[in-house]
Amino acid sequence: MPRPILATVHTPALAHNLQRMKSAAPDAKVWAIVKANAYGHGIERAFAGLKGADGFALLEIDEAKRLRALDWRGPILLLEGCFEARDLEACSRLGLWHVVHCTEQIDMLAAHKTTALHRVFLKMNSGMNRLGFQPERYRAAWTRLNAMPQVEDITLMTHFSDADTAKGILAQHEIFNSVTHDLPGERSLSNSAASLRHGHALSAASDWIRPGIAVYGSAPDFPDHSAADWGLQPTMTLASKIIAVQAINTGATVGYGSAFTATQPMRIGVVACGYADGYPRHCPTGTPVLADGVRCQLVGRVSMDMVTVDLGPAPQAGMGSDVTLWGKSASGALLPIDDVASAAGTVAYELMCALAQRVPVLTAD
Ligand SMILES: *Cc1c(COP(=O)(O)O)cnc(C)c1O
Repeated sequence: MPRPILATVHTPALAHNLQRMKSAAPDAKVWAIVKANAYGHGIERAFAGLKGADGFALLEIDEAKRLRALDWRGPILLLEGCFEARDLEACSRLGLWHVVHCTEQIDMLAAHKTTALHRVFLKMNSGMNRLGFQPERYRAAWTRLNAMPQVEDITLMTHFSDADTAKGILAQHEIFNSVTHDLPGERSLSNSAASLRHGHALSAASDWIRPGIAVYGSAPDFPDHSAADWGLQPTMTLASKIIAVQAINTGATVGYGSAFTATQPMRIGVVACGYADGYPRHCPTGTPVLADGVRCQLVGRVSMDMVTVDLGPAPQAGMGSDVTLWGKSASGALLPIDDVASAAGTVAYELMCALAQRVPVLTAD
């Protein structure tokens, strides 16, 4: 038998979550964000569940090529635009739409000789201060692009820094509106959090929403809301098995650094999953784990290839029992990835993206 660790991508859950995001913005078209290899799910596997999207947004030409190889003929958007002139040739050849966020990208496009017309998303820096034109420079950029023979269409775009928190989107939205109110063209503003929390306020400005994390079944504003609160289903399960059981006495310690000390006799399940599989090393004692579908707790340090679990709540679990690190157990019990990410002091995005190459992945439909 191979090492028992396995990740599963749940295709129907992807389709369900996409539908859920459509219902959050019923009049908008949806970019399924598949950057970072579809948040660690694998572009090809994610595509099977996300075919119903109106387009796919990502960062790299190679990822765009993989979508075209799946026979996706619809829109593909490069979220950071082109990094060098050669990328524009790929855009022309593959029919990719691209973000334009800086003067250098306009210059490159102006110098690009092509008969293929380009659809661009002109990005405003409305306060995030990563990519985009400052509000006072935005209209000049629009005017210049609009006059270029290479450009067929300009969508107006920005990105919110605080859609998931109490600060919200109001200030950035007002800046965006004040600059763009009389410009023609479609609008694209909302990530997952903005679509779910501010969909109503943004409905007039939502020609295209850009949900990522919600499509992958994580609540963008956890712990304010859980995935279940938003009607989202887990799309990735990380599962393994117990490969050893240790019965230990009071005072015995577990794992590297003796970081955990038993205060009573315990059964410790040793699970074939560690940080080299992408399980966060920062998960402390107390991080939830399902053993045989029953919620238990991690004890001691996460090591490279193993974690150790207190089997107290699951007396029936033992050698060979199924363990769910996140996602859905064989019995249907759920362990939200957000619970695990939160215990590790991070977000579900990072856990999904960090799934290691050595973990075999199965698609379930
Ligand atoms: C990644 C990304 C998104 C998706 O964000 P989520 O929080 O995962 O929904 C949307 N827009 C842009 C520009 C992005 O880079």
